[in-house]
Amino acid sequence: MSEKHAVECLRCGHFRTIERGRSQRLEPGECPRCDYLGWALIADLSNPIRRTLCERPPAVRGRRLRAV
Ligand SMILES: [Zn+2]
Repeated sequence: MSEKHAVECLRCGHFRTIERGRSQRLEPGECPRCDYLGWALIADLSNPIRRTLCERPPAVRGRRLRAV
């Protein structure tokens, strides 16, 4: 059994999916586009790095989140 994980290159934003193998380690390797080795899991949407990459998604525009 293997899970799939979506990851995004921290440098160029290249998107790909990887599978977690038996070792339970995620090893996306290097980016095919820029050879960078840093990847962010797409599931980590609260990640500040991710936030800077993704400018306001259209769904949120116009609908302001209430400050808590
Ligand atoms: Zn890249």
